[in-house]
Amino acid sequence: MLAANDDVTRQVLELEANARQLGFRLAVQCLTCKRWLTAPRSVAAHRGPVCRGGHDV
Ligand SMILES: [Zn+2]
Repeated sequence: MLAANDDVTRQVLELEANARQLGFRLAVQCLTCKRWLTAPRSVAAHRGPVCRGGHDV
């Protein structure tokens, strides 16, 4: 299930897909632990799965 900010998530997924087509990858630092995240859902949430409290939501 996606969180409340479905719109942002969808935009990020689109951006990620476009970037990947051009040979780029998106990355963002986790707001909590500052690790670099590259999984589209983690990028959208600005938090990794661990810091989001879920397993692999
Ligand atoms: Zn984190």
